[in-house]
Parts: sequence; C-alpha cells; structure tokens
Amino acid sequence: MQEYKLFIDGEWIESSNGETFDDFNPATLELIARLHKASEDDVRRAADSAEDAFDAWSSTPAPRRAKILFRAARILEERKEELARLMTTEMGKVLKEARGDVQEAIDITYYAAGEGRRLLGETTPSELPDKFCLTVRRPIGVVGLITPWNFPIAIPAWKIMPALISGNTLVFKPASDTPLLSIELVKILTDAGLPRSVLNLVTGEGSAVGGAIVKNRKIRAVSFTGSLETGKWILGEAARDMKRVSLELGGKNPIIVMDDADMDLAIDGVLWGAFGTTGQRCTAASRVIVHEKILPLFQKRLIEKTELLNIGNGLDENVDIGPVINNTQLQKIARYIEIGKEEGAKLVQGGKIIKPLPGYFIEPALFSDVTPDMRIAQEEIFGPVTSLISACDFDEAIKIANSVEYGLSSSIYTKNITNAFRAIEKIEAGITYINAPTIGSEIHLPFGGVKSTGNGTREAGTTAVEEFTELKTAYFDYSGKLQKAQIDTG
Ligand code: NAD
Repeated sequence: MQEYKLFIDGEWIESSNGETFDDFNPATLELIARLHKASEDDVRRAADSAEDAFDAWSSTPAPRRAKILFRAARILEERKEELARLMTTEMGKVLKEARGDVQEAIDITYYAAGEGRRLLGETTPSELPDKFCLTVRRPIGVVGLITPWNFPIAIPAWKIMPALISGNTLVFKPASDTPLLSIELVKILTDAGLPRSVLNLVTGEGSAVGGAIVKNRKIRAVSFTGSLETGKWILGEAARDMKRVSLELGGKNPIIVMDDADMDLAIDGVLWGAFGTTGQRCTAASRVIVHEKILPLFQKRLIEKTELLNIGNGLDENVDIGPVINNTQLQKIARYIEIGKEEGAKLVQGGKIIKPLPGYFIEPALFSDVTPDMRIAQEEIFGPVTSLISACDFDEAIKIANSVEYGLSSSIYTKNITNAFRAIEKIEAGITYINAPTIGSEIHLPFGGVKSTGNGTREAGTTAVEEFTELKTAYFDYSGKLQKAQIDTG
C-alpha cells in the first residue's frame, strides 16, 4: 500500500508529528493509501515556503507562468484515463463522470493558461491634460485553498490554476476522503516545471489543518469550497485578520417542470440532476417542483425510469450510481429518509441501504407529497434523494423555489419563452438552466451562488482571476507640473 507525504518547499516530507490517516475505496472498503497528517507546524512551514517563493513567482511574466500551465494541461490530457480510474477507486463516482471531472481540470488549466496573455486591466481618460490612468491586476500573495471531496480534481484545478496564473503562491489542503487526485495534480504541475515552493500541499483533518491555514497570518486570502457550516466558521475567523475569503457552499437546487414541458426531456433531466454523482453535487436537483396538472403522470414515469438505474462499483461501465463517499454520509442520508417519512412525505421509490454489497450503497430515493417547509425540502442532504413538490402555477413554483436559504443552481422545463425569461429574472440563484438540469456548468462561465451559498464571489469564467487578484490603479502625470484632480479641472 502506497504512503503519501506532504509537499512543502519542493520536497515530499513526513508530517512533523509522524501522524497518518487512511484512505478507503467507498465501493469495496479496501484501504488504498496512507497519508501524512499535517501538524500546525507543517502548515506554518508551508506558508513560510510559499511566502519565500512569492517574489520570484509574482515577478515572472504571466505568459511565462502560462507555459507551465499549458504543459500541465497536456500532461493531464495524457493521463486522463488513469486519473479517472484513480478517482473512481477513491471517491466512487462512475467512470464516465470521473472522466468528466478530469476533463474539467484540463479545461480550466488551458483556460487559465490563456489568461496569462490577458489578465486585463483597463485604461481610461484622465480628467486632466497630459495624464494617463490605468488599472493592473496584482497577485494577493500567499493564498490558502481548501477543497471538498465531491470533485476531487476539478475543484482543486478551478482554484489552483487561476491562482497560479495570477502570480500567487499557495498552501493547498484537499479533503481527507480524496487526497490522491490532488497529490497527482501537484506532481503534474511539478513535472510541468512549476518552481519550487510555489505550491505547497498539506493533507489532514479539516478543523486542524484547514483551521491552521485560515488562522495563519502570512496567508492573505482563503478560497474555500465546502459546507455552509465550515464556510461560516472560516468567514468569522478570517475577519479577525481582514483576510480575503471566497466561499462556494451548499445548495438545495430546484427543477421546475411546467405543464407545457417536454415530459421525457424533463424526466431525463431530473434523473441526471438528482442522482448523477449519487446526488453528491452542490448543484444536485434535490427539489422537483411540478405543475399539479402533470404531477401524477410525471411521478409515475419518473419512478419507472428511476427503477432502471444500475447501482454498483463505478468502475463497471454499466453502472449509473456509485457509492456515497463514507459511512457518515450514508448514515446522514438514511436519517434524512427517516425524517422525510416522519414529516409525512411518501417515500415512493428506493431509499434502502444496499446489503450485502460491502461499500456505502443506497438506492436513489424519491419522495412525493412533500411540502416546501419540510426539512427534506429545506436542508442539503447531499445524497441521491429528491422531493416532488406540487405547484399550481408559475408564480407558486417560483415562490417554492426561492423558499430555501441556498441559491446555487436552478432549472425550469417549459416551452413558454416568457416563463423561461421570467425564471431567469425571478429565481434566487447564481445559475439558471432552461430545459436542462441543474448540473453541467462550463468552465468559461462564472460559477457561484447567492444567499447562503456563498459570499458573492464567482469561480471560473472571466471572473476566475478576480478571486485571486487585487486591482491596482495607476496615474501617470507627464505634464511636468502639479495638477490637482477635481480642482484644476476648470
Ligand atoms: P466540508 O465543509 O466538511 O469540508 C470541505 C473542506 O474543508 C475539506 O477539505 C475539509 O477537510 C475542510 N474543513 C473542514 N472543517 C474545516 C475547518 N474548521 N476549517 C478549515 N477547513 C475545514 O464539506 P464537504 O463535506 O467536504 O463537502 C460537501 C459540501 O461542499 C456540500 O455542502 C456541498 O454543497 C459543498 N460544495 C459546494 C460547491 C460549490 O461550488 N458551491 C462545490 C462542491 C461542494
């Protein structure tokens, strides 16, 4: 069994306290790797090392930084299949989705590399003669990156690549359930020529290692993707040092199906949106708000199609639904299924933990007769559970869609163009899909949410570098005399 160390100051080193933790395959419960658990002291060394590397890296012209990212993207492409298989083994998502996860990392790496020749500021006229005004993007400094387990390479790449192209140096902590893809990503960037100490990797427990990153005063910004609870803690803690924080948190994403929708299309969308990645997506469709006129038929046909989904080890190409990530998550999902029943919702499909399969498998679950105030309609479950909620018209559907504290993704199935545009206007979410499910973002568009889903930042797209840069405003006065803005403007 392979043992993996921390990557600090360009070396793979053991944790200073000698502690380790284990990494399991959620489909088979086999032990696949042992990892070093960073101590607070290790995090301090990682931040010191990133700080030492900052001058040289931030002074390297961005197009030269980009060359390293282009090389990394090519290595990722060459290793795509191997990385996808490793991901399925470690995280459980089915192989075709794991390939998509790696592809997303490839796409963002190329995209961020392209930014090396842009990193655009603006120029604008001065109010005074012989004076010139412009803005430039400057890196923030040492940045801490903390990522969840559900997109083991895409989310790390979404953060690492824009942060690097912007000239920052990094301390990176992946989720303890899925560190292997992050380790491979660090190796790939090193093979691509990333200079020593620019990227430091510390693995280990969230509160201990992640907490030490958040509290470290050399780390000037933290980019975090994970749960609302952790996000709130990070925001509070980072405020003490006036650290910049970007938060991408949970979701309770609705799909609205209107009475004029293409029903087959909507059902396929719900199956993919609710049960893809075993429901473990921040954008998972965990509420399906259906026009009351079509609800009985919609429910019947959705049940029929849900029954056809194959559950098993994601390495089998015929499997649609892999395991959930760990036993804690499995028990949490099972508990929510009980809560739904206790609240009076009807479990019309699935919901049973599958035995004798050794891993953490549960049948995709469908609830009917759900009211918007029930806990299963309000709280993020993060598993293959979705709720059918009836709405009498468009306005009621929108009201239900907006009745939760989250606002990440959303969707409407309708042929009515007015309702489609109104949905874009009215749904409180960072993303709205028309006639497509709540999942499937593309890397050249901004990604993020409103309300408790985040603090207003957006990842990817043209906004990707905003998260990792400061805007500097510069004025050149070539008049040779003292000119006073607002005073000598006559
Ligand atoms: P989590 O908050 O438990 O953990 C996320 C990361 O934070 C992990 O690396 C963890 O070790 C670390 N962490 C935990 N406690 C910490 C602390 N006190 N200080 C610093 N770091 C800490 O979340 P999770 O269970 O790994 O991920 C699932 C959650 O992530 C869901 O809520 C999901 O919606 C959300 N998510 C959001 C997006 C998005 O873009 N909005 C994308 C994927 C997942």
